[in-house]
Amino acid sequence: MSASLFELLASRFPPERSAPCFILSDGREISYGALESAAARVAGRLIAEGLRPGDRVALQAEKSPEAIMIYLGVLMAGAAFVPLNAAYTKSEVDYFLGDAYPRVFVTDPPTFVREAESAEALARPVPRDAGDLASLIYTSGTTGRSKGAMLSHGNLAENALALHAAWGFTPKDVLLHALPVFHVHGLFVALHCALLSGAPMIWLPKFADAEVLTGLKRATVMMGVPTFYTRLLANPAFNRESASNIRLFISGSAPLLPSTFAQFEQCTGQRILERYGMSEAVIITSNPLEGDRIAGSVGFPLPGVELRIGGGEETGVIQIRGPSVFSAYWRMPEKTAEEFTADGFFITGDVGRVDPDGRVWISGRAKDLIISGGYNVYPKEVELVLDELPGVTESAVIGLPHPDFGEGVAAICTGKGDEAGIIVAARQQLAAYKLPKRVIFVNDLPRNAMGKVQKNLLRQTYATLFQR
Ligand code: AMP
Repeated sequence: MSASLFELLASRFPPERSAPCFILSDGREISYGALESAAARVAGRLIAEGLRPGDRVALQAEKSPEAIMIYLGVLMAGAAFVPLNAAYTKSEVDYFLGDAYPRVFVTDPPTFVREAESAEALARPVPRDAGDLASLIYTSGTTGRSKGAMLSHGNLAENALALHAAWGFTPKDVLLHALPVFHVHGLFVALHCALLSGAPMIWLPKFADAEVLTGLKRATVMMGVPTFYTRLLANPAFNRESASNIRLFISGSAPLLPSTFAQFEQCTGQRILERYGMSEAVIITSNPLEGDRIAGSVGFPLPGVELRIGGGEETGVIQIRGPSVFSAYWRMPEKTAEEFTADGFFITGDVGRVDPDGRVWISGRAKDLIISGGYNVYPKEVELVLDELPGVTESAVIGLPHPDFGEGVAAICTGKGDEAGIIVAARQQLAAYKLPKRVIFVNDLPRNAMGKVQKNLLRQTYATLFQR
């Protein structure tokens, strides 16, 4: 067997290929056999059209089973898959196409797959080495140009195997898949766990309460971003009974609020398993399947992952080295060099600490660090205090240009509270320099498709808050 990720996944498909892989909300099912043969025809068509190993194939489209047929066909053909967020505008897409320079750009997966039916199926996957490029994942790029993280067959295979084992997947599982597939969470973490188990997925185009509640009755595992869990909790129809078939709820891509963890446990009796990952390394740490899952901690490094804190203090920027860590940013040698240490650790940009038990706690992004009057303020520390105060549901703490302090601390919150009262209450727990100078209530915090609060948008919106 070569190191082709496709070969690994296909070697775990169920022996009975008529077994379902995708269960769609209209009741249709698509079997593993149908997925495999469509992938082989897609690969055959791509090669017939001149695709060579190492070429890139980009895809921008709404989520569909056909997008996965194309993803697997691209891997089988020895090329690299470049998924693009369906929400990107033409000018954003132009940048990605100019940068990745794909030989093929797919915008209509169902038609592409249908047209491949007349192609000759590729008999055997193109052999790959572990270091060969499998996918280019563009980072969300909240600052500067979006970078293409180069993930190899080895990176993806190692991580998929580690997660499959860590989360106890078996062929009896049924995965509820409501995540987008242009991001590592839906495309690699969720999909690969199901494919490696030969298990079916309840395949939802997006998170919609009614379909998720129906899907939960048949599913055994759900993976989601924190927003999925807050939405379930806000739905009066969601209760202990709705969650009773699920053996594991997993959350990631953004911090899960301890209050969401607690409410979820109260409502369903189940403790959400939080894990931490990123485009550059897929999954890095996870709370345990067996043993304590602790709210606010992202758990332990996965086997084989070395994790340390840079800077010589207890809290600092998390650095990682291990089998799933990407090798470089596509065509950005200087950027790559800047973000790796001399001994080969990737500097994640996430700030955190490791407690004496070895659990990892994340306190924010280095670029979100606020420097107010010369003092460092970690937004997460302030947010944890504010989130516990009466009237505050969730807070996002940001630094804004301030004429005296350089940056002033501001808190944008959901809920209903009194600004002065909140500042006084927070003073009981926080040094004065960490206190928000303003607390502003809004109906919703802006979030991207993965549920991350878009602090860059908040910084833009409130840019002049402290200007005189
Ligand atoms: P992306 O590359 O889009 O997947 O974003 C990765 C970033 O998401 C990480 O660097 C973290 O800042 C954040 N992230 C992912 N999972 C978690 C988590 N469980 N808790 C806190 N932040 C997270």
